[in-house]
Amino acid sequence: MKVALFGGGPASLMAAYQLSAKHEVHIFEKGKRVGRKFLVAGNGGFNLTNQATREKLTAVYSNHPQLHQALLNFSTNDTRTCLSQLGMETFIGSSGRVFPEKGIKPNQVLQRIMDVLEERKVKVHLDHAFIGFDQANKPIVLANENQITIEADHYIFGLGGGSWSKTGANSDWFKHFNAINVQTLPFQASNCGLDVDWGDEFQKKFAGTPLKNIAIQAYGQTFKGEAIITEYGLEGNAIYPLVPLMRETLAKKERAYVFIDFKPNSTVEMLQSKISSAVIKPKNYTYAFKLSKAMHAIAKRNLDKETYLNPSAFATCLKKALVPIVGLRSVEEAISTVGGISMDEVDVQFRLIKHPHISIVGEMLDWDAPTGGFLLQGCFSTGFKVGQFLNQSLR
Ligand SMILES: Cc1cc2nc3c(=O)[nH]c(=O)nc-3n(C[C@H](O)[C@H](O)[C@H](O)COP(=O)(O)OP(=O)(O)OC[C@H]3O[C@@H](n4cnc5c(N)ncnc54)[C@H](O)[C@@H]3O)c2cc1C
Repeated sequence: MKVALFGGGPASLMAAYQLSAKHEVHIFEKGKRVGRKFLVAGNGGFNLTNQATREKLTAVYSNHPQLHQALLNFSTNDTRTCLSQLGMETFIGSSGRVFPEKGIKPNQVLQRIMDVLEERKVKVHLDHAFIGFDQANKPIVLANENQITIEADHYIFGLGGGSWSKTGANSDWFKHFNAINVQTLPFQASNCGLDVDWGDEFQKKFAGTPLKNIAIQAYGQTFKGEAIITEYGLEGNAIYPLVPLMRETLAKKERAYVFIDFKPNSTVEMLQSKISSAVIKPKNYTYAFKLSKAMHAIAKRNLDKETYLNPSAFATCLKKALVPIVGLRSVEEAISTVGGISMDEVDVQFRLIKHPHISIVGEMLDWDAPTGGFLLQGCFSTGFKVGQFLNQSLR
């Protein structure tokens, strides 16, 4: 049987890998190369997956039964095994993130996958952009100014989320799915920075300064890690998990804020004990409490003079420095997005309920997960599930 995939990201490549053992597989990619966002991920942390146990895994994803089934069906260990079978060993780093073994570069991972697909006779058609459906709901691609209707027994779409347009992402395809009566939800930023109105002077002075070994608190949750002060506010792994709830708060035009705990490993009493034996003046706070200048400045911002001058009160505030949030960074800048094809439009095999000859994989679907390897895992799991189902059902 012939299967046509649209978009050459990790979700499609996983589906193609599964299907290529049994079927004729074609990938249509609008760019001049596949996997551009995968390579961007490689330039950063390049967490291929996360060692989270099967039990803990689904808890970090948005609550969609189809997605959870796919994650349990092809979990993080399966990703590691699959990569190992392709000759790429991985290791578990800090906070459970899984990386390629030292020395293996991101483009080598991608190249190895593409080599295997080539060995399996998968045909990759670059510069072939999906531009809509014909009257029989068959996809049309544009190549060399020619419009070609793609004939296949099944179609898989993995056109990705909305961020980082230079990797091929956009929402141009929404209208084509809307035209065949499939509901899309606007892309919104996830795993993105937060806008903080700290004033130009402060932001200019401290932009680029990391806040290490902190914890961010909001909505009754605490995330330890690191953040960086940017020219617009805050970014970093301790921030990202709060973005979904922050997005809801901001959409309701309610006040949004986070608290920074600059000393997550010390209690207030432990901090106060540092001052009990000595008279500490504000000019010595950074030394006494082991604070960077940026930490000191943030903690001081919301305090009245009396509180600031009182070392004991200041120590208490180090555990809960208020940071008012005024917005989320844009879709374009975000690491990932929510929105795209509504999960209500797909069945448990990720086929469009209204068009079962079409399946959807990866970030093109409306789901959410934090960074740390969970985004790629979501792509691999949905790609695997679709490939596995079609291997069983297409004869
Ligand atoms: C800066 C950054 C760092 C990241 N780091 C990590 C990380 O460390 N770990 C992690 O798990 N995740 C990470 N991610 C997220 C991860 O890269 C994405 O979740 C993943 O690439 C999404 O895969 P996908 O297959 O759904 O879509 P994509 O990778 O976006 O691929 C979609 C493909 O579809 C193509 N396409 C789009 N429209 C058309 C069309 N009309 N016709 C044909 N082709 C089309 C695009 O050109 C693209 O090649 C990171 C992302 C960014 C931006």
